[in-house]
Amino acid sequence: MLQEIADDVFVDLDYEGANVGCILTDAGAVVIDTPMIPAEAKHWAKTVFSLTDKVLYVFNTDHHRTRIMGNQYFDTRIIAHELAWREVASYKDTFIERTKNLFKKYPEIQHQFDEIEIIRPELCFTGRMVMERGGREQVFVHLGGHTPATSGLYLPDEKILFTGDLLVVDEHPSLGQCNSEIWLKKLRWLRKQKYSMLVPGHGPICNVDASEPLSEYIRTMRAKVRNQYKSGRTKAEAAVVISQMLDFFYYQSGRKSLIEKRIRAGVSRVYDEMKVIYGKHDIPRRAPKGKGKRRARAA
Ligand SMILES: [Zn+2]
Repeated sequence: MLQEIADDVFVDLDYEGANVGCILTDAGAVVIDTPMIPAEAKHWAKTVFSLTDKVLYVFNTDHHRTRIMGNQYFDTRIIAHELAWREVASYKDTFIERTKNLFKKYPEIQHQFDEIEIIRPELCFTGRMVMERGGREQVFVHLGGHTPATSGLYLPDEKILFTGDLLVVDEHPSLGQCNSEIWLKKLRWLRKQKYSMLVPGHGPICNVDASEPLSEYIRTMRAKVRNQYKSGRTKAEAAVVISQMLDFFYYQSGRKSLIEKRIRAGVSRVYDEMKVIYGKHDIPRRAPKGKGKRRARAA
């Protein structure tokens, strides 16, 4: 359902996989992200074109399919972070095939992807980009954390930030391509900002405090995986963490295997981060106890 959260600032939080937004200016609209499922993307496009007859740009806050898949229905230029562009530019037909595979159980959705064409960003920024068109200032900002490309859109007049997947609320985040340390840092930074409102990548409109459970989730994940790694467990063995994290956020029972897959990707990613932090192969299968360890450290 379309909601107007400030003058000429619209969001729809009900599409599968991503919150989307639309900001109207006197010169046309800027659209933030496009839904993954083509029927929903078309619905979003129809909604937007009921508000305006011109879309200036679509802004993709990341390179994930939940952000870019519906770009074609807006028939306009795409703005994204340079790293998102690089990723999207590398997508082959297999990317659409893999998306179809996600909907194996839903043939009526699966066949919709036959018409999908990946539309690449053609206007990129790295740190931040200020745009003033149609009398409205909009700031595209790099955020990172969730992926190296994750970006947001800030409206200085209203003090509203569209966070992309830097912030997801009431839902298991995807850590599969993250840098968990940067993500935590960035969330701490977020909590110090004086924003009046945040539009997260998933979940309800909120303020900066809503980022605390996500920080707690990432910290918990890091602690659990670190424990596994430091006690010499393999990545496969560290998968015990999946069931330990499962109830951290509510999920519909029908989505259990999807959520488990998401957590598994996170465990794998954080495990690799621990490898970098604690060294690759020099930890013994089981850490030595007592004196030996102390002596080794002194040496
Ligand atoms: Zn994402």
